[in-house]
Amino acid sequence: MRVFATRRLPGDALDRLAARHEVEVWPGQLPPGRQELLARAPELEGLLSLLTDPVDSELLAAAPKLRAISNYAVGVDNVDLEAAARRGIPVGNTPDVLTETTADLALALMLGISRRLLEGDAYVRRGEWRTWETGLLLGRDLYGATAGIVGFGRIGRAVARRLEGFGCEVLHTSRSGGVPLDQLLERSDFVTVHSPLTPETRGLIGDRALARMKPSAYLVNTARGPIVDTAALARALHEGRIAGAALDVTDPEPLPGDHSLLQAPNLLVLPHLGSATHATRERMADMAVDNLLAGLAEEPMPNQVTPRAP
Ligand code: NAP
Repeated sequence: MRVFATRRLPGDALDRLAARHEVEVWPGQLPPGRQELLARAPELEGLLSLLTDPVDSELLAAAPKLRAISNYAVGVDNVDLEAAARRGIPVGNTPDVLTETTADLALALMLGISRRLLEGDAYVRRGEWRTWETGLLLGRDLYGATAGIVGFGRIGRAVARRLEGFGCEVLHTSRSGGVPLDQLLERSDFVTVHSPLTPETRGLIGDRALARMKPSAYLVNTARGPIVDTAALARALHEGRIAGAALDVTDPEPLPGDHSLLQAPNLLVLPHLGSATHATRERMADMAVDNLLAGLAEEPMPNQVTPRAP
């Protein structure tokens, strides 16, 4: 069957796919443009997409032969799941294999922003460091802090396990339990976001939520950029209403170089590296290919987010 993979993947997983199907792999570093995707749609039977590829109702409508979609991510906010389900097209994702790797990065961001790692590194490189000083680049402890986890699923729980080792008091909130979000925001020294991007969570951390946080608290986001209102966060940082923010994900991605958020003080920002280790990205590739192989064979995908046929 005709399969389009919108990017090269680490490891040899795509070779396994190519052994069974006619696979075109987009060679670019940047995602294929809209027109490139739409041009392939009429003959497309399998799609291996990344979180940067909008798989929306227009694309699905242009792809009458499409039988399976495999997204190389656990988040599936780039895919119109309802439109796919209406067509009976299974959609797969890559949960679990990236949980611990992403949780590690959340901890790295908490420590990085609160212990001022970037400022310290830049200070040494500028040749300004003269001697050990009692008041040099003082930060705040993660150890013993109160940490609030927004979205207590696989990654949120993995973060909680790590925070217990830091002697933190851990609060959490999700639709099915925990403390109310407002209470979590008011009590936490670190607020870390781990919910999916949905219509409900888009802009969840905006002016109102940021105003509830302590002025000494840090915001960490390794989930999806649009869960945090970028303009509201930029204002809060510029006005010193929270202590800092550490972001693996932003809205938009990437931020333009002259964006006001990048001029804000106490910001640590990464280019969406949550799952970015050699081992994890290879496991994701294997899982994504296994999902697609199953979907094209009309078998249940090992990790399928759309309803399975009865
Ligand atoms: P998961 O196991 O599905 O957990 C998500 C949690 O969010 C669930 O506990 C869910 O609980 C909660 N939730 C859903 N809606 C909510 C709302 N409105 N308010 C508060 N909580 C809500 O997913 P996961 O595997 O932990 O991944 C979480 C997200 O992380 C993914 O969707 C993805 O976007 C992101 N991610 C990013 C990276 C990266 O590279 N930075 C890597 C991996 C994952 P309830 O249903 O009880 O609310």
